[in-house]
Amino acid sequence: MQSQALDLLHSVFGYSEFRGQQQAIVEQVAQGGDALVLMPTGGGKSLCYQIPALMREGTGIVVSPLIALMQDQVDALREAGVRARYLNSSLDAETQREVEGQLLAGELDMLYVAPERLLTGRFLGLLERTPVALFAIDEAHCVSQWGHDFRPEYRELALLHQRFPDIPRIALTATADQRTRDEIVERLALDDARQFVASFDRPNIRYRVAPRQNARRQLLDFLDGHRDEAGIVYCLSRRKVDDTAAWLAESGVTALPYHAGLDAETRTRHQKRFLREDGVVMVATVAFGMGIDKPDVRFVAHLDLPRSMEGYYQETGRAGRDSLPAEAWMVYGLADVVTMSQMIASSEAGDDRKRVERSKLEALLGYAETTRCRRQLLLHAFAEDHAGACGNCDNCLAPPKTWDATVAAQKAMSCVYRSGQRFGAGHVIDILRGESSERVRQLGHDQLTTFGVGADMDEAQWRSVFRQLLAAGLLEADPEGFGTLRLAASSRAVLKSEQKVWLREDARVEKGTRRRKER
Ligand code: ADP
Ligand code: ZN
Repeated sequence: MQSQALDLLHSVFGYSEFRGQQQAIVEQVAQGGDALVLMPTGGGKSLCYQIPALMREGTGIVVSPLIALMQDQVDALREAGVRARYLNSSLDAETQREVEGQLLAGELDMLYVAPERLLTGRFLGLLERTPVALFAIDEAHCVSQWGHDFRPEYRELALLHQRFPDIPRIALTATADQRTRDEIVERLALDDARQFVASFDRPNIRYRVAPRQNARRQLLDFLDGHRDEAGIVYCLSRRKVDDTAAWLAESGVTALPYHAGLDAETRTRHQKRFLREDGVVMVATVAFGMGIDKPDVRFVAHLDLPRSMEGYYQETGRAGRDSLPAEAWMVYGLADVVTMSQMIASSEAGDDRKRVERSKLEALLGYAETTRCRRQLLLHAFAEDHAGACGNCDNCLAPPKTWDATVAAQKAMSCVYRSGQRFGAGHVIDILRGESSERVRQLGHDQLTTFGVGADMDEAQWRSVFRQLLAAGLLEADPEGFGTLRLAASSRAVLKSEQKVWLREDARVEKGTRRRKER
């Protein structure tokens, strides 16, 4: 069997050897066992079901949620001489009947189907009348209602196990946190499946996070280190994508916008230029990237916090597929923490969902604020331990300084409290610094005992303190008020000097404009 698998790898796919755990996975499924495969994007998941599908009698049924990827895969397989087809809503009725006919006639090695199609009584009936080699469930994390790709139909795929108990199933995903993993096993009834967990580490990617001071200048400085290289700049909103792309273009960078609000023709044109030309910077929302296979993306920059650690991993993972050095860079600031906390607190979601969202945000903030190795933290989110510090993240390369900020934290907290827990960081910082602005005077806040007690630190330092206190949950953003800060349950211990607060010293962006040279 081993030699048959290798023969197929050589003759059909043209590769000389299996990668990582591919061979063990192929053997498990070819023997009729179930498998759960967790492998990062680009790790080589497809071969894990394609080869067993060719080894076993009958047609391999591949469930996939993405029509575009289905077509690409089938095209590639057919070019390699494999009898593959797909069935989804993009086909006309006649073609669908033709494909069904081929399935029944035993003329297909592999058939890709959308989940909703697979689950129809008609299709399940067809499967009962023809030998099936295996079921492959791609993007298996779609069963998870906590993920962003939740597909209700995926939940019903458990019925494959009931109706076809003897046919092996292989579920695959690039999302590997423990919660999702457990949910896949439970929802797809994969308790007896062997689990294959590949390392998610991408050692060639250097991770860096910078506190936001002047995002545009920081971005230009970052891009200066990546002249004429291809990269992606992610923003949260469409508007910010448009603004950033336009401004970068004015600054002499070949930058193009991409988001779901642009018409299809523009999106396709920009995507093609990004793929074909050298050194194009794509400024995009998360709508960009799924299924983009460009090996030489040299950097991914985030101007806003991503949705989750999984999202961050997926997005940054688009850099350096060619294994050459690449960078993942992010700027992040006080406003992100406030906005994200409020978005969660004021959403319509139920308490369970909010708790999950909150813990996802906390994981991200922990990553952004950490003084330890970032790679260790990132991999930890995927239940993976990285032995030792990586030596290829900003914290490893230049260990951040920390300072005892207990007194500053106490001043910040008392000032929030004494001004009535009704103001945002900007106003509280004015009071601390003893700025008698009109608003401060009008509200009588120049009379507070905390007025001017923080004059020894400048505004940027205070913003850094507030950001870190919020990220650590030592202060809270009021879900009702716009940017309003209030004490948290854990503020007490700090105020009573029972707990010390150590914060990182943020690197300062020097004042004065550094101009990007004309190309
Ligand atoms: P995934 O689905 O995990 O994102 P793919 O199955 O699309 O990854 O594979 C990623 C790339 O790696 C593809 O270009 C594929 O042809 C290549 N690849 C996969 N397995 C091997 C192998 N054993 N040897 C060489 N290249 C491989
Ligand atoms: Zn590190």
